[in-house]
Amino acid sequence: MTVIDSLEFARTAQTLSGNLPVPELARLRDSLFDDSGEVRFEVRGARDARRRPVLALDISGVLHLRCQRCLGMMDYPLRISNTLLLVSAGEAAAESLDDGESEWIEASVSLDVASLVEDEIILGLPYAPRHGEGQCGHEGTSAKADNAGNAAFTRLAALKRNSN
Ligand SMILES: [Zn+2]
Repeated sequence: MTVIDSLEFARTAQTLSGNLPVPELARLRDSLFDDSGEVRFEVRGARDARRRPVLALDISGVLHLRCQRCLGMMDYPLRISNTLLLVSAGEAAAESLDDGESEWIEASVSLDVASLVEDEIILGLPYAPRHGEGQCGHEGTSAKADNAGNAAFTRLAALKRNSN
């Protein structure tokens, strides 16, 4: 786990980059077909045009999502590029943020970078990912194994429905 002092990081224009193994992104697990793949990130401290401290975040990689139509695996390329304004808890509460287009996070002396990257990925995920039209079920020789997996998934979905 990598923790940064976010305001200090922005003030001194630091850069941090690295890889996150997909199995460590625990909150993403329900959305994924499997754990393979890796996520690369780079976070850069800076100031915006109005001299406010920001973190610029770039995330790339490929995740395996589950198609909501055929329940098969689909590659989901990650290309996230975001600038997050750092605001104090007081500013956030006062809603003094006037330009609606800025995304912001609360400044923290112990910001967990992996958790931040995970948040951004989750925000960007499609609500119901699907293969393109006519692209479902083209998985060739692995189709039989996939069917066994889908049956287990369907039972699990039924269990979840029943428990409500
Ligand atoms: Zn599909």
